[in-house]
Amino acid sequence: MEKAHYAHYFPEMRDRMDACKFHNCQHLNEPHCAIKKGVEAGDIAASRYQTYVQLMVEDSNDPYRRNEYA
Ligand SMILES: [Zn+2]
Repeated sequence: MEKAHYAHYFPEMRDRMDACKFHNCQHLNEPHCAIKKGVEAGDIAASRYQTYVQLMVEDSNDPYRRNEYA
């Protein structure tokens, strides 16, 4: 499963992700990201977004974690 699925755990992000420029947007460093715009506008709590970023970063930095799903 692609990593973008983490956004589905955050309803306020899930509602906006369709507006991202890229369909496979991970909402991290992509330009024209609707999620990041929502955080900047205050529509999405920055703390919630940070939790999401942490999930994404930890997932990509821990190669052993993938074995749990094998
Ligand atoms: Zn995005």
